[in-house]
Amino acid sequence: MEAKINELKRLWAEAADLRSVGAVLDWDQSTYMPAGGAPARARHIALLGRLAQEKATDVRIGHLLDELQAYAESLPYEHPDAALVRVGRRMYERDLKVPPAFIGDMFQLGAESFNAWAKARPENDFKSLRPYLEKILDTSRRLANFFPGYEHIADPLIDTSDFGMKATTLRSLFAQLRRELLPLVKAISAHPPADNSCLYRHFDQKGQLEIGAELSRQMGYDFQRGRMDLTHHPFTTRFSDGDIRITTRVNEHDLADCLYSCLHEAGHAMYELGIRPELNATALGHGTSAGVHESQSRLWENLVGRSRDFWVYAYPRMQATFPGVLDDISLETFYRAVNKVQRSLIRVDADEVTYNLHVMIRFELELMLLEGNLQVRDLPEVWHAHYQADLGVRAPDDRDGVMQDVHWFAGQIGGMFQGYTLGNILSAQFYQAARQAHPESPEEMRSGKFDTLHGWLIENLYQYGSMFTTDEVVQRATGGPLSIEPYMAYLKGKYGELYDLG
Ligand code: ZN
Repeated sequence: MEAKINELKRLWAEAADLRSVGAVLDWDQSTYMPAGGAPARARHIALLGRLAQEKATDVRIGHLLDELQAYAESLPYEHPDAALVRVGRRMYERDLKVPPAFIGDMFQLGAESFNAWAKARPENDFKSLRPYLEKILDTSRRLANFFPGYEHIADPLIDTSDFGMKATTLRSLFAQLRRELLPLVKAISAHPPADNSCLYRHFDQKGQLEIGAELSRQMGYDFQRGRMDLTHHPFTTRFSDGDIRITTRVNEHDLADCLYSCLHEAGHAMYELGIRPELNATALGHGTSAGVHESQSRLWENLVGRSRDFWVYAYPRMQATFPGVLDDISLETFYRAVNKVQRSLIRVDADEVTYNLHVMIRFELELMLLEGNLQVRDLPEVWHAHYQADLGVRAPDDRDGVMQDVHWFAGQIGGMFQGYTLGNILSAQFYQAARQAHPESPEEMRSGKFDTLHGWLIENLYQYGSMFTTDEVVQRATGGPLSIEPYMAYLKGKYGELYDLG
């Protein structure tokens, strides 16, 4: 059996390595590549995507999974070999349904469309992107149709990033959350807004990158196995267990942009870095779902990085990084500034309270596009209408409207957004469980000690990679099923105090 497990791992490692090589090219495209490299790079990425898909669907993998089935079932559920066969089969069977040539074409379209978006967004030119988006919608529908028998056409796409979730259950979960959020946003908006003007002073790029890296390192991001580079739309990427990189961006007149990109991406990276080394380059060697992944970026970014305890430690470091710039700003004023709630236009800049309203708009629009209830040509206007209705704001153009996020333009409509809100919900649930286990951890943060919290997350979450599904991980780590209660309690507690909601 051991020889068969090793052979299975060897075959998977070839597919994983090809995907990693593709990830290097992707990372390069988004960081250092000159614009002239774009057409060839689209081909490179498409080729690797197709080859990886061929490797991942090698018939020998199927045979080995069959031969190992009885052995895997004889093991305890938590045994890594049992998980390897269980989860590996699920992924293999999913990959098998999609022809490699289709994946190659999809990657090619995604890369071309990404480049078109990067050019069109600054020019506010949605018209030039319409043909791409129409093709992407068509491709996404075809992708879903490789998985017949679904209840909603988005289900197969959601299932790929958040296994086990369905459009109908998410719609009702989000409706429940929306019902709780709208009155909270309304109550906060009735109060005078916090003054966050201190964040828009001049902060030089060098200092912003320094403090972003320093605080990420202090939280636990290991620069011996990672690095940080500049990009337009920050992301984290994994090449191997020894090389998990983050990216950020800098606006010299917006301190929060770079800072919170760093903490967010460091959270994603810490999850990947915490996975047991023996799972590397197997079917289990990455975070288990988009939602659980996002729970970790949001946990470090918000529950830690926007807490008073964190800033007791971090604010003097921040002041020292920009001599003279923040001398007149107290810790309390700064804390209130980074927690300002306002109805705004841009998802990635949104505060914790309104953020999910942005996500839910996109989730609903994705479903409508896939259902055929919304045409691409009407998308910009429908976008504005939803923003008007839920957030009471309207973007002056499409650049900060429908073109603000890269997701759809990068090659897929469907399954792209639910993970953000699931992540927020779960971030509070995991954090609550960690604090119950270690009530001393908030106090520790005041002196820059994060390893108690980090250790709990490694122990209960990170180490398992994809061994357990989202539902299983939540149950194991928190002792209960997914619930919006800890999240709403967190928001109401924190913002009730900040905005004196009584
Ligand atoms: Zn994220």
